[in-house]
Amino acid sequence: MIIKIFGTESLGVRGLSCSVELSSQRIFIDPGIALGWSRYGFMPHPFQIAMGAGIRDEIIKELKDTSDVIFSHFDGDHCPLGDANPYQLGIQEIKNSLASCRIWSRGPDHCPPTQQRRRKNIADAIHKDLQNAEGVKQGPMEFSFPVPHGQQGRKENMVMMSRIEEGGVTFVHASDIQLLDVKTIKVILDWKPDIVIASGPPLYRYSSSSFQAEREQAWENALALSNHVDTLIIDHHLFRSEEGVGWLRKLGYRVKKKIFCAAGFMKRAPLLLEAWRRELYEGLPVPVDWHEDYKQGKADIDHYRVEGWDFLMRKGKITPCKWYPICPIKAYTDQGKLERYWIENYCLVANKHCIRYQMEEKGEYHPDNMLPNGEIRRDL
Ligand code: SF4
Repeated sequence: MIIKIFGTESLGVRGLSCSVELSSQRIFIDPGIALGWSRYGFMPHPFQIAMGAGIRDEIIKELKDTSDVIFSHFDGDHCPLGDANPYQLGIQEIKNSLASCRIWSRGPDHCPPTQQRRRKNIADAIHKDLQNAEGVKQGPMEFSFPVPHGQQGRKENMVMMSRIEEGGVTFVHASDIQLLDVKTIKVILDWKPDIVIASGPPLYRYSSSSFQAEREQAWENALALSNHVDTLIIDHHLFRSEEGVGWLRKLGYRVKKKIFCAAGFMKRAPLLLEAWRRELYEGLPVPVDWHEDYKQGKADIDHYRVEGWDFLMRKGKITPCKWYPICPIKAYTDQGKLERYWIENYCLVANKHCIRYQMEEKGEYHPDNMLPNGEIRRDL
């Protein structure tokens, strides 16, 4: 089982999209993305928009080779939209891929009207009904009955969790549960998972002492989960503020298990671009009409894309790979011979999946024209 997380808050965007590759099928859960329309009174910073566009492209590419798609619910950061804003994923971009996949979907009951409309929009675009998968077990996949989107008792907004098992490994995807409902945690534990990815509590909304009960409940539930799961990935709402970093670190110290945010699980540094939005605006100001220009395809985003990384390094928000200053991949990029994709997805986020990095650590020879994924580029 190969689990790959695409978009979530520690990777720079809103959502909890991931793929699970099994021996004979590839499952994509929650193909959607959002950036947070307004935070601290600011629209998404152009640097975050550039990073989000890259993640959206990766989702679109992955879906072309996917056999099954799961929709946990129909919030705008978890599904494609008929009326997507410029930072989200539009149905038109993936409708052909969706039409050729088996779809396993949260049902229409106990859904806000907006989510019911989005569900219908997807069905209309691909000309087939979305199967209600709640409570269904099919091959390696099993789906929960609806559980609360956050707090217990909120029946007007529910989500569906997924269990996938193969080769003695069980993975559970629990989107938007926010770790607030004891019964939901029990459902997950009854599934006996080895790896869980779940949304954590929205600490950024809990600044008032009136949310103390929610804070305590989420903490207790996180402890209960982590005590029984080998690998626990908590992300999404938790990483909309830097406070989430300390919260997760404390959990890791307390339980001494494998506790990760999505970025950590993917062996790379976190990019909390929504949490850092105010600082990005202070360091890299944005003209008032920039977003309107972007919508019309007239805005220059490359300037922010390059300057954003330099700004985050200067502020100490990111620490690139230790080999970056002398790595030929940096030199080729600086000379304009190589796309920035490689430094942005490996070097600048210290991605330990880099084959060059791994060979360097083992003292093994590797040619200058070997890319971080091990491919040899003859034109370099
Ligand atoms: S290519 Fe690999 S080894 Fe070189 S700087 Fe980037 S991540 Fe490090």
